[in-house]
Amino acid sequence: MMDKELKETVLKIALKNAILHDGKASLGPVLGKLVAEKPDVKPKIKEIIPIVREVIEEVNRMPIEKQKQLLEEIAPEKLEERKTEGKRELPRIEGLQEGRVVTRFAPEPNGYLHIGHALTAFINYYYRKTYGGVFWLRFEDTNPRKEKIEFYEAIEEDLKWLGIRWDKRKCNSEDMPLYYEYARKLISNRHAYVCECELEKIRKYRLLGKECKCRTLSPEDHLEKFEKMLEGAYREGEATIRLRGDMSSPNTTLRDPVIFRIIEAEHPIQGDKYIVWPTYDYACSIQDGLCRITHVLRSAEFEIRTELQNMIRELLGLPNPIIVHYSRFNVKGTPTSKREITRLIDEGIVKGWDDPRLVTLRALRRRGILPKTIEDLMYQIGLSKANPIIDWKLLTGLNRKNVDKIANRYFAVINPILLEVENAPEREISLPIHPDKPEEKVRKFTVGDQFYISALDAKGLKRGEEIRLKDLYNIKIVDFRDSVVRGVFVDFKRLLKKKIQWVPIDQAIKLKVYVPMELIDEHGNIVRESMKTEYGYVESNVTREKVGNIVQFERYGFCRLEKISKENVEAVYAHD
Ligand SMILES: [Zn+2]
Repeated sequence: MMDKELKETVLKIALKNAILHDGKASLGPVLGKLVAEKPDVKPKIKEIIPIVREVIEEVNRMPIEKQKQLLEEIAPEKLEERKTEGKRELPRIEGLQEGRVVTRFAPEPNGYLHIGHALTAFINYYYRKTYGGVFWLRFEDTNPRKEKIEFYEAIEEDLKWLGIRWDKRKCNSEDMPLYYEYARKLISNRHAYVCECELEKIRKYRLLGKECKCRTLSPEDHLEKFEKMLEGAYREGEATIRLRGDMSSPNTTLRDPVIFRIIEAEHPIQGDKYIVWPTYDYACSIQDGLCRITHVLRSAEFEIRTELQNMIRELLGLPNPIIVHYSRFNVKGTPTSKREITRLIDEGIVKGWDDPRLVTLRALRRRGILPKTIEDLMYQIGLSKANPIIDWKLLTGLNRKNVDKIANRYFAVINPILLEVENAPEREISLPIHPDKPEEKVRKFTVGDQFYISALDAKGLKRGEEIRLKDLYNIKIVDFRDSVVRGVFVDFKRLLKKKIQWVPIDQAIKLKVYVPMELIDEHGNIVRESMKTEYGYVESNVTREKVGNIVQFERYGFCRLEKISKENVEAVYAHD
């Protein structure tokens, strides 16, 4: 290695080491890291030590701010590394008692989970796992018009994929008789009443802070009307039960909120047994009390509901959990709201909930993002209140670290061009499946004189130039004719700097790669052409893989395999 290049590498390592240790780098760790990054320095280590010492002294003389600034300039990726090597823990919150932490994940089964749900699930699961106790999976399913049986199943599957295991499971819709019992209690105690106003009027009055005349009737009258509601004497929209809150409260959720409404739709589990359905706030508050939830960790858009939910529990004599809010986060270039995603699907802009441009868990899985990566992301964001916007680069950076260790390597060439080699020695060779397993030479090739190489590599070639067909031999480029590149064999051993991937034509399988790009541009507009398709060839050794495996096509990127046969391979591009 040249002196200058070596010095720069040492400088980067020393700066990073110093920043991690209050501004003081030390020789041992820096040398260790250097050898790990550049194994070829090992034989020359004695000569190198004085250079390393010199650099360390120079670095240690700088104030830490200067060190950070310099590292940022010459190697910003090293600063990133520091962040991702952070502790895998979340802050201690109040009221955590060993073995007695009860948390829950409570999705509505009206769609597929996305990355935001996954973070909420991971956070709540974390406190149960770390401190011991009970983790509930609870379906918030009291709006029969929106919920579907397929979503209950999909949510469970997705949680299992994440590696989240629940101790207890229930559906809010199981406790309908209890919700009615509690309603009778609230009505008898003048805490709730039947309102026969139209929904539009209720909405308007709540906005104005105005009470309606239904409020003035006696509890007996309201109880009678309530029983009539249950019997089906009212149709949808004709009556609701409202909590007697405070019509002048600045918190609008407290202005006599509706706690039951009539919904004439079949429920995916309860069928047509009920028509009077509790609202989310009512059912959720009661269930958090019944399940003895000790901690609710949820995103900040729910913060406004806390007062109401605590009020419902207090009126019914149920315990309140400790509630911690953190910022809802967004992912740059893709929608995270269910409504927006549904619209994109309905308009045919994306091809379904698992379209790899989306951030539903199904989409992320198709794109080769590992569950561990999503968990890593949780540790990075933590309980941030800073409205984080997640860049795909952050997610793919975390994922790269996780897949790099497990992804088998193959040669693939995109936009293939034929390469013919004169005097090519016929050979049988075996190459390792992964750089960490040099002994596992399971990729078998029988090479002749015809190969495919990628158009991008071919474009950069010059007549007379010597290049290396990676892990094979060196050739000299002779000419380009009829879109065929011609070369001549030179030798085996010399390691030339320019190396390109190749696929022998007899071992080439057609490859199709879906390359997802940002769905929303920087102006917030939908990009219709955001799924690119690339075609090429991949070495036939790839057929030893299974669908769903993530592999690395060398110098192209990590891809998740979707279809594998002797004729065709299809994959989704994850990242480089
Ligand atoms: Zn009314």
